[in-house]
Amino acid sequence: MVLLVSACLMGLPTRYDGTPAMADLRALARKHTLVPVCPEQLGGLPTPRPPCEIMCGRVRTREGQDVTEAFALGASRALDVCRLCGCGAAVLKLRSPSCGKGKVYDGTFTGTLVPGDGVTAALLLSQGIPVYGEDEAALLD
Ligand code: SF4
Repeated sequence: MVLLVSACLMGLPTRYDGTPAMADLRALARKHTLVPVCPEQLGGLPTPRPPCEIMCGRVRTREGQDVTEAFALGASRALDVCRLCGCGAAVLKLRSPSCGKGKVYDGTFTGTLVPGDGVTAALLLSQGIPVYGEDEAALLD
């Protein structure tokens, strides 16, 4: 299968602070073709960039700058890549306001998690694309 994967999980330094997240996806790579994407970069945001969180359906930096449109653009472009490459599923970084599935930070920048999906994860799920968190990658082995 072709899998869309959060670029930071593949060691690319795309996170807000310019570091990679890294996950051991070697077993996954032996069986599948991995396509790295960073929705926040695809949305035009720089790296490094301020950390962002979701609150009341909007994405904001700690200073209150509303970056929802950039996140939505990045999600749309990630979906385009997903379709162009024929991805059958996505493996995404947990807790990210773009890539997180199931839990995201609550917008208070206090490290508090609440149920919810990142903007890209939500869009992919809405289009019927299965999304796995990085801790679920073994399910695709
Ligand atoms: Fe990683 Fe997704 Fe954040 Fe990009 S947007 S750095 S791929 S978690």
